[in-house]
Amino acid sequence: MIALQTATVLAAVFLSTANSAATPTASYLPQTSPTYLPSFPAQTGVITSWPPADPSAPLPSGPLSTATLTLSGYPTMNVPVANASVDPNIIPIMNLIDWTHVPDAPVTTNTTIVPAGDPYCWWTQGGCVTPKISYIPPDIYICPVPDTWGLTYDDGPMYYYPVTPENSVWAEPNLYDFLLAHNNQKANLFYIGSKIMGAPIAAQRGLNDGHTICVHTWSHPLMTTLTNAEVVAEFYYGLRMIKEVLGITPKCWRPPYGDVDDRVRAIAWQMGLRTIIWDQDTNDWQIVGDQVAPTSSSISYATANNTVEGWIANHVKGNDTQHGHITLEHELSNATITLAEFWLPTIQKLYQTMPATACNNIAQPYWEESFVYPIQGDQAVSTNGTAVGGSTSSNGTTTPKIVSSAATKSTQVMGSVMTLVVAAIMASLL
Ligand SMILES: [Zn+2]
Repeated sequence: MIALQTATVLAAVFLSTANSAATPTASYLPQTSPTYLPSFPAQTGVITSWPPADPSAPLPSGPLSTATLTLSGYPTMNVPVANASVDPNIIPIMNLIDWTHVPDAPVTTNTTIVPAGDPYCWWTQGGCVTPKISYIPPDIYICPVPDTWGLTYDDGPMYYYPVTPENSVWAEPNLYDFLLAHNNQKANLFYIGSKIMGAPIAAQRGLNDGHTICVHTWSHPLMTTLTNAEVVAEFYYGLRMIKEVLGITPKCWRPPYGDVDDRVRAIAWQMGLRTIIWDQDTNDWQIVGDQVAPTSSSISYATANNTVEGWIANHVKGNDTQHGHITLEHELSNATITLAEFWLPTIQKLYQTMPATACNNIAQPYWEESFVYPIQGDQAVSTNGTAVGGSTSSNGTTTPKIVSSAATKSTQVMGSVMTLVVAAIMASLL
C-alpha cells in the first residue's frame, strides 16, 4: 500500500508539472499588475491575506452582517455598459492595450456561423480552448490529475431582492456555510460585478471563508457580441467592484456561457486575466424555477441531477482515468444550490475536491501577493483543502499544499460504491 501510494503521488506530481496549460511561459505576452484600477481604502472586516494568521481560528459562518456599503461610480446593474467607447474610465485602458496583439475577430451575432478552420478559436461553436495565436496561453478547462474535481460556482453572490423567507432559503451564506461544514471545502467563486453590488457583504463572506474569487464580468453578456470597448468595460467594472469590495484583483475570469474567442481572450490577457472554462457542465443554470424564467432550452431538476449521476457512475466504473474535471455549477437559484449541496458529499468521497485554480497549481490567483492558497500535489493525507506542510519559493513565500492520497481515495471509492448506488436510487425517487 505504501509503495502504491508513493508511486501514485509521484505520478500526480509529474502530471501536474507537465500540464503546460497551467503555467504560462515566457513565450506569452507579458502581463503586468493592472494599473488602470483606482485605489480604494480597505474595507472593515475583509481579510487582506491568506492563509489566516491563526489557522485554528474558526472561519466566519452564520447570518451575514447587516452592514451596508456605499458603492458609487458604477454603470447600471445587470446590463452591458452604455457608451463604453466614450467612458472616461475606459478610454485610458483602450490606449494601454496593444491592439497589434488583439486579433480582429468579427463581433458575433446569434446568426454567426464559425468560419472554416475556426480562425479565432471561438469556444461557443466547437469548444476551442487553444488559441490560434501563440502569445496567449490555452484556456484552463480540466484538472490535469485524474480523480480530481475542480469546484466552481458561477453567477454569485446569490441573493434575492426583495428578500422573503420563501425566496431566500438558499441565498448566501447557505452554500458558504455548507462548504465550511463539509470538510472546510474550498471552491472557485466566479462573481458578477453587478451581483456583488447587490450583495457586497455576501461577497466578503466568500473571500473571508477562503474561497478563490475570479471575475465573471460586470453584467454577464455574451462577450463575443460586444465591441472592444464594451469588452474592456465588462472587465473593468467587474474587476473594479471586486477590488473596492474585497481588496483583491483576480488574475482569473470565466466568460459567461463560455462565449470567448481570441479577440476577447487577448483583451482579457492584457488586462491581467487568464481564461478558465470547464469540461463538465451540469446545465444547472437552465433548471426552470426560481429566478430562472422558462425558455426553449429549460431543463428539469431531474435532468441536471441525472447528468451529475452519469459522470459519477462513469467514474466509479473506472472509465474516467484520463484527467480530472472542472465542473460548471452555479450559485444562482434555490435549485442550483440544492443540486450542489445534494452531490457535494458524494463527490468528496470519490474525488479530490478543490478549486479549479488549485488543481491547476495556481497558488496566487490575485495580483495581491499576500494571498497564497493551497494547491494540489503533496505527500500526506488530510481533509479537503487543508494546508499541511508546504514549500518555500524563491521569494520566501510559503506555499501550502492541498494534500491527498489517491491510493486512499481508491479505497474510499470502493467503499463508496454502495453509498453511490443508494444515492442514485434516492435521486431517482426524487
Ligand atoms: Zn455565468
